[in-house]
Amino acid sequence: MKVLVLNCGSSSIKYQLLEMPAAELLAKGLIERIGEPEGYISQTVGGIKQQKTLPIADHGVGLREALSALTQGEGAPLADLDEIEAVGHRVVHGGEDFTGTVVIDEAVLDALRANVPLAPLHNPANILGIEVAQRTLPCATQVGVFDTAFHQTMPPHAYLYAIPKALYREDRVRRYGFHGTSHRFVTAAAAEALGRPVEALNLITCHLGNGASVAAIAGGRSIDTSMGLTPLEGLVMGTRSGDLDPALIFHIARAKGLSLDAVDKLLNKQSGLLGLSGQSNDCRVLEERAEAGDEDALLALEVFAYRLKKYIGAYSAALGRVDAVIFTAGIGENSPWVRAHACAGLEILGIKLDEAKNNTRGVVDISAAEATTRVLVLPTNEERLIAEDTYALAQKP
Ligand code: AMP
Repeated sequence: MKVLVLNCGSSSIKYQLLEMPAAELLAKGLIERIGEPEGYISQTVGGIKQQKTLPIADHGVGLREALSALTQGEGAPLADLDEIEAVGHRVVHGGEDFTGTVVIDEAVLDALRANVPLAPLHNPANILGIEVAQRTLPCATQVGVFDTAFHQTMPPHAYLYAIPKALYREDRVRRYGFHGTSHRFVTAAAAEALGRPVEALNLITCHLGNGASVAAIAGGRSIDTSMGLTPLEGLVMGTRSGDLDPALIFHIARAKGLSLDAVDKLLNKQSGLLGLSGQSNDCRVLEERAEAGDEDALLALEVFAYRLKKYIGAYSAALGRVDAVIFTAGIGENSPWVRAHACAGLEILGIKLDEAKNNTRGVVDISAAEATTRVLVLPTNEERLIAEDTYALAQKP
């Protein structure tokens, strides 16, 4: 069965076409700058990347471009669009309505629309993507996989903010957590790598990409995670501040005469590694500059690693016993510096890295022989898990 995985952002569409159940990647593509005068589309098939620029007025035009790239030209992976039997949509915010993956029908779409106030930037693009896919691929089963779903097992003491309870009852203001598909993927991968059933494992999973979050996983269930109502809470990220004193918002709004929207933008787009370094949101760039003696770049990385270390400590307390800490995503998989600095001084928790293993690409277990908590580097693959979920639901009558 051919499954199309769609990840629609506010001005972009990422997609992958997979042959299931083998999870063979047939094509992957990216459409960017939707709605701008000059859009961009690239598609990679069989290791060969093709790209072009053209105006892409809206998501409908973007998806049609993607579908024509999949069916036309030399080496196109599809002869006919009808070969796509199911579409798996990454949906950012499922609120409290979705604890797992679902087939999308009108009731699901209504629930997603009702959740738009919780994710005003993300959910409208996801809904648009679903509507366009329904129109363009009417015979395919449409499936929704939610970033929030895996964290719906968090207990109330972890998901409630200490604010008037009516805000939770009436407006569902609470912590939700995101990156659930990635945390779920590496949880299963860790169980496989350790050769133990997931039910027997307590894990701390660190998804460190441009967006970053950490989760405490007890017996395969998320019991806490660092992102909250929105993906702004928690770790320092590429351009997001992560945790801060909420009074800071009022303080800078007053001191700088900024509107709420301007502060929102400042904390989401101009903060994090970018804001601290004044140079880049890109960890690799900052590591190169720090290596060359740039103190601002080094300090930004130190703040990033220190915040993560504090979360590892906090989630060790939440879990009581930690069998393994997992590093994944762009920074987690590729930065020995961040891993070493986040784990430094955690011997009291049984965490100790083997320096040589940490510095060797491709080593899964980077912990020292005497460590009682394993530290694993595992690549995440959210698209694959979305395709697996989609395949499983699309097969049901
Ligand atoms: P992601 O959002 O998962 O694609 O991760 C993007 C982040 O991973 C960026 O901050 C990159 O700089 C970082 N990254 C990728 N490769 C490396 C590397 N070799 N060393 C350090 N950071 C890296």
